[in-house]
Amino acid sequence: MIFEWIIGASDFLAAILFILGLKRMSSPLTATSGIVTAGIGMLVAVLASFLYAFSVVPAARAHVPVNFALAVLALALGLGWAWWRGRSVAITAMPQMVALYNGMGGGAAAAIAAVELFGGRNHDLTLLGITALGALIGSVSLSGSVIAWAKLDGRINKPWRFKGQQVCNGLVFLIAVGLGLYLAIAPQGAERLPLVGIFFAAALLFGALMTVPIGGADMPVVISLYNAFTGLAVGLEGYVLQNPALMIAGMVVGSAGTLLTLLMAKAMNRSVSNVLFSNFGDVSIEQQGEIKGSLKPVEASDAAIAMRYAGKVIIAPGYGLAAAQAQQKLYEFVKLLQAAGVEVKFAMHPVAGRMPGHMDVLLAEAGVPYDLLEEIDEANEEFSTADVALVIGANDVVNPAARTNKSSPIYGMPILNVDQAHQIYVVKRGQGKGYAGIENELFYAENCNMVYGDAQAVLARMAQAVKDLAPSTGALPQAVPAVV
Ligand code: NDP
Repeated sequence: MIFEWIIGASDFLAAILFILGLKRMSSPLTATSGIVTAGIGMLVAVLASFLYAFSVVPAARAHVPVNFALAVLALALGLGWAWWRGRSVAITAMPQMVALYNGMGGGAAAAIAAVELFGGRNHDLTLLGITALGALIGSVSLSGSVIAWAKLDGRINKPWRFKGQQVCNGLVFLIAVGLGLYLAIAPQGAERLPLVGIFFAAALLFGALMTVPIGGADMPVVISLYNAFTGLAVGLEGYVLQNPALMIAGMVVGSAGTLLTLLMAKAMNRSVSNVLFSNFGDVSIEQQGEIKGSLKPVEASDAAIAMRYAGKVIIAPGYGLAAAQAQQKLYEFVKLLQAAGVEVKFAMHPVAGRMPGHMDVLLAEAGVPYDLLEEIDEANEEFSTADVALVIGANDVVNPAARTNKSSPIYGMPILNVDQAHQIYVVKRGQGKGYAGIENELFYAENCNMVYGDAQAVLARMAQAVKDLAPSTGALPQAVPAVV
């Protein structure tokens, strides 16, 4: 009996730790401790699952890991690999890693379902139906996440579309659902094996087919959608196994993932169905139209001095800030501006960077106070009052084509209206495009100047230029527009 009591208490503790961890992840200030808390919850749940082997309750014993050595070996390999990857992964490659781990969660749920569907101990029709549903969702999440990983990692560069794609996807889906239903009602036996195989092949194929046509700019929504799928699949298989920790973890991930999906879709001004079933992102360069104007490079020091004498500077950070790991240098420069009496704010776009909250995490890591950060709507009300908008490594999230060009792959996505500031400085290395792979007319605007170079090096030069100025006389300069 003691083991049942320990298992129950551990599951309860793990559930509380998951929820507390998630709560703490809602703010950049407490996010690190939130991850540790949820991690401890996961450790408790994993250790408790081993105790099933000693349980005297037959239903629990039915799921005893038959081979301890194999289970421990799998855990050691998984732990070792995840530890090594977690430590060595570059922050810019984090989204790919998250997509991959997410897919593994879905795959793990599908693997549990495979055991149950093929000669499992369950003969209850409802439970077998739930098992098949979890298997379908988990498999879709696994193969879809692998495609998302390949896209984020630059291994698949273009959306893959062909005529009749929706019909083909629909057929594969129907085959998977039909087989899933059949497996739920068909008698147990060895003859099920090929059908189980075809069922999983169809489900995996559907996940891949569903993801390949989706354009790059929609990847944030897709990743969080698969995250929700994984949670749902894990929750369903937890129900089948009657394992409360799995059920609760699945529900927490599923509901958090669903909320995140809806928020991300809203941030991109899209509906989830539109993301999945439209050909968004399918635009040729010719369709984008010709851009008028010219690129006007300036020295980092000139831009810095203009900002030093500005009244209000709004910074729009993007992926390049993360790629250059320039967050510390940026905050150093911001502190110099603040010391000179310049009002500085950060405009946060929800899909800037390569993962939800990417910029928040970076700025929090550099110690930027949270009250300097403004959400997109708040920031957009202020750009017209800013003397300078400083764009650092951002491209798509400041591209005015999203507002004006109906044929643009990012048309309709809310952007940071940096073009409304009096003067714009854009820090980037050269003429590289953003994630959506399109030109940005902002860079050619009359009031825009380019500061070329790696963001970290440019910001170091900017900070030095402000330091090199004679100490302030104490009288603050007026909010003069930057003159280049
Ligand atoms: P973008 O990818 O649009 O642009 C980044 C820019 O940074 C590039 O144009 C590049 O230009 C520049 N850059 C790269 N490295 C450096 C460096 N070391 N120093 C200075 N500049 C650099 O980034 P945004 O943040 O504007 O937009 C994010 C995009 O990613 C959106 O399209 C979004 O949909 C997508 N996305 C977002 C996800 C999320 O969850 N946030 C997930 C997946 C995709 P150059 O090469 O000339 O330096």
